[in-house]
Amino acid sequence: MSELSTQLIHHPYRPPAGFEAITQPVHKASTVIFPNVQALRERDWTHQHGYSYGLAGTPTSFMLEERIASLEGGRYCALAPSGLAALSLVDMAFLSAGDELLIPDNAYGPNKAFAQHELKRWGIACAFYDPMNPADLAAKLSPRTRLVWLEAAGSITLEFPDLPALVAAVRSQAPAHPQGIVIALDNTWGAGLAFKAFEMGVDVSMQALTKYPSGGADVLMGSVVTRDEVLHHQVLLCHTRLGLGVAANDIELVLRGLPSMVVRYAAQDASTRSLANWLQTLPHFDQVLHPALSSSPGHAAWKRDCSGAACLLSLAFRPEISQAQVDLFCDSLRLFKIGHSWAGPMSLCAVYQAASIRSLPSAYRGPLVRLAVGLESTEDLRQDLAQAFARAGL
Ligand SMILES: *Cc1c(COP(=O)(O)O)cnc(C)c1O
Repeated sequence: MSELSTQLIHHPYRPPAGFEAITQPVHKASTVIFPNVQALRERDWTHQHGYSYGLAGTPTSFMLEERIASLEGGRYCALAPSGLAALSLVDMAFLSAGDELLIPDNAYGPNKAFAQHELKRWGIACAFYDPMNPADLAAKLSPRTRLVWLEAAGSITLEFPDLPALVAAVRSQAPAHPQGIVIALDNTWGAGLAFKAFEMGVDVSMQALTKYPSGGADVLMGSVVTRDEVLHHQVLLCHTRLGLGVAANDIELVLRGLPSMVVRYAAQDASTRSLANWLQTLPHFDQVLHPALSSSPGHAAWKRDCSGAACLLSLAFRPEISQAQVDLFCDSLRLFKIGHSWAGPMSLCAVYQAASIRSLPSAYRGPLVRLAVGLESTEDLRQDLAQAFARAGL
C-alpha cells in the first residue's frame, strides 16, 4: 500500500472490541463486502442471516425492523421511506390487474388517491366502504376483492370502527390469504400501543413511523409488519424490486425516538383528552370528535378495544359558523402551528371540508379543524385555543 489514495481507502485501523454504549452504531452501506466469491454466490438476501447489499438491509435497518415487529406484536417488518410508501407498497405487493381493493371512506386521503389514480391506471378497481357499517363492507366485497384496508381511528373525523366486526365481515365471505383476501390496517394512530393489531385479526399492520415512533417531526418513514412468512416474502420481493431504500441516518432518528414513545404517547393522550373535554363544553361545535368522548362515533368499540387514544381531536364547527371565522381562529393560534402531520413535539392545526374529503355522505356540514396536540403544557394550549376563539369572535 504505497499510494496515499489507496491508503486512505484501505486503512488498517479497526475499532477496539469491548466498547459498550446505550446506542448502537449506525451502519451505512450501499455495498456490502463478501469474504469470497462463494459467499457472494450463496448468500440469500431474503433472510436476515447475512447481508448482501444496502437495499436488502444492514444491521441498523434489521434492528429497527425487529423493534417495530415486536412493537406491533408481529414477526416480520419491511421499512419504507415514508408512511405513504409503506401503504402503496402493500397495495403493489398484493394487487394485480383485474383485482379489487376496498378502502374505508375515512381513510388517510393519499391512500385513496393512490388507488384512484395509480392503481386505476394499472387495471385495479377500488371502492370505498362505510367503516362504521360492517354490512356495507360485506356488501361491497366481490370475488375479485384481494385487499381490504382498515384504519382506526379514521382520518380527520376520528370515527373508531369495530375492527373485529369488519374482519369478520371479510372472513365470512373469503378465506384468508394467500388465495383469499389480505386485510391490512393503517395502524399509525394506534402505533402498536393503543391496541394490538394482530389480535384484531388483520394480516398486515402498516404504520407511518413518521408519527409516534419518530416523535421528532424531522423524519419520514413507514413500516409494513406481518406475522405470516408467505405474506412477508411477497412484501419483501416487491419492496426490493421497487428499490425502497431507507437511509441509515433516518433509521437512527427513529431508533432514538422509540425509547420515549410510550411516555410521549401517554402524555399527549392525557393532554388531548383534557382539551377535548373542555372543548365539548363550548357552544361552537356540532361535535368534538375524539374516540374517548362518549358522544364521538365508535366510542363503544374504542372503549372495548383500546387502552389509549393518541393526540388528535377534531372540531366539527356548526354550519352557521363561516369558513372565514374558522380560518381566523386558526390564524390566531400562537402555539398551535398550521401544518400537516402529528405526534411531534409541537401542536398543530389543519382545516378541512367534509365534502371534499369524503366520497360517501358525511354527517359534518360545517368546517372541520383537526388539532394535533404536542408536548407543550396543557394549560398553555387551552389558553391559546381560548384566545384564538375570542379573536375570531366565537
Ligand atoms: C401520516 C400518515 C400516513 C403517511 O405517512 P407519511 O410518512 O407522512 O407518508 C399514513 N397514514 C396515516 C394515518 C397518517 O397519519
